[in-house]
Amino acid sequence: MKIRVKRIPEEGKKYAFKVDTKKANRYFTLLKTSDFSATTDLEGRIEVSNLEGMVIVEGNIEVNLKMRCSRCLGPFPYLVSRHFRSVYAPFSETCQEEDVELKSYDMDVSTYNGVDLDLDNVLFEQVFLGMPAQILCRPDCKGLCPACGVNLNHETCRCDAPIPHTPFTVLKKLKLKG
Ligand SMILES: [Zn+2]
Ligand SMILES: [Zn+2]
Repeated sequence: MKIRVKRIPEEGKKYAFKVDTKKANRYFTLLKTSDFSATTDLEGRIEVSNLEGMVIVEGNIEVNLKMRCSRCLGPFPYLVSRHFRSVYAPFSETCQEEDVELKSYDMDVSTYNGVDLDLDNVLFEQVFLGMPAQILCRPDCKGLCPACGVNLNHETCRCDAPIPHTPFTVLKKLKLKG
């Protein structure tokens, strides 16, 4: 959903809206981030205000994701639910005026085209910011055995001998004997 920045009243405006699961996943696919997908609609409740062309968006987003563990490659659910506040400055202004003024906001400032702000993009950005730094199904995930590939969370294998026997270690032993 796009909003005309000029039409945002001075006192701000509240929006409650959804990006449906299919649309969210199309977007994630476009970004080639196939390691996760949405399993519910992306819901946002935000308040938008316009400070002489600077758009301030504050609110909450929530979406359930299915992610892929970076260690064991297994799927696991993850809820992104966050409160955020971000500022969007018209693109041309940020280029001219440096960021002296913007610094006083003490938050990340993004840009928009100066005419309308795409709220879908605002929410998608927040999904990425709400993802865990380490993508693990659980903090102590044991991962896959590098030798035989079994999922060490569910199975044990016999690969954990510290030094694998290679022809060279066998050769060494033979030499010592001789
Ligand atoms: Zn895992
Ligand atoms: Zn193994």
